[in-house]
Amino acid sequence: MTLPSKRPSPSDFQHIRDWVFDLDNTLYPHHINLFAQIDRNMTAFVAELLQLEANEARALQKRYYRDHGTTLAGLMLHHNVDPNAFLERAHAIDYSALLPDEALGAAIRKLPGRKFIFTNGTVAHAEAAARALGILDHFDDIFDIVAADYVPKPAGATYDKFASLNRIDTAHAAMFEDLPRNLMVPKSLGMKTVLLVPRNLGAAILETWERVEHIDCDSVDYVTDNLTEFLQTIAPDA
Ligand SMILES: [Mg+2]
Repeated sequence: MTLPSKRPSPSDFQHIRDWVFDLDNTLYPHHINLFAQIDRNMTAFVAELLQLEANEARALQKRYYRDHGTTLAGLMLHHNVDPNAFLERAHAIDYSALLPDEALGAAIRKLPGRKFIFTNGTVAHAEAAARALGILDHFDDIFDIVAADYVPKPAGATYDKFASLNRIDTAHAAMFEDLPRNLMVPKSLGMKTVLLVPRNLGAAILETWERVEHIDCDSVDYVTDNLTEFLQTIAPDA
């Protein structure tokens, strides 16, 4: 397994007009781990819905995630769950771990063109997180799991919907993501792709990284563990 370690240069991104960011573990670092809270909420939802013990609920939740791309997709398919009730519960979390990140905000603002958040979560979750980071105002739009008709990334149809809704020319767009598999379609559509990895990667071989083995590394143009620095490198002061 070899990932590209190519250094970015501003000229590599000169043709980019639309900047697309995943939310969780991309616009804030992996170690903040908001997802742990969401994960616990999802387990509790499944346990209550199906009257399961926590460990059984967790096993089922993970199976649905594996088999259907999200826990929600499995719950909708097998248990006719109301997606809004699930999403609201899943995202009822404490955002206080996210602090205003002025350097990130300045780096995003400086990017020439439109900026989007494209998340498998909800608009409410993306707004809350981006607001806590102090970067919400820099984005033109948020495309979420509801807009995606509950079909999560990495489904090709969802990228198509996102791109056509926003009239994005993918040959002039870049995508930032922490999950390698979510970069496969963007790469095939001609987008520049940037993989966010956890800081101090050497300290622990993390889930994200393990999944790298299962992807075609050709889908990843750049790898970084610091989004702000990366953006500062590709869009320096004009
Ligand atoms: Mg993510």
